[in-house]
Amino acid sequence: MFVVREEQCVQCGAIFTISLEEFIYKLDNGMKLPKRCKECRRKNRAVENPYHGIYQIMHQYPATKGHRHQVHGGTL
Ligand SMILES: [Zn+2]
Repeated sequence: MFVVREEQCVQCGAIFTISLEEFIYKLDNGMKLPKRCKECRRKNRAVENPYHGIYQIMHQYPATKGHRHQVHGGTL
């Protein structure tokens, strides 16, 4: 596994790595790189899931101006 980045989890403070595979997958899908370790993301998923659809819509139409083009990851 080729590690591209090391990040600190904003939730538990643990250092986690982002693999090249994951990095490319996120870019290809216009997603942001994760801010939480896999363990926290797994825990959060069960909690956030009922609101996931709403969260996505909020994300696509941010209240602030001028960020619409970043939604699909056009910028690096
Ligand atoms: Zn964590």
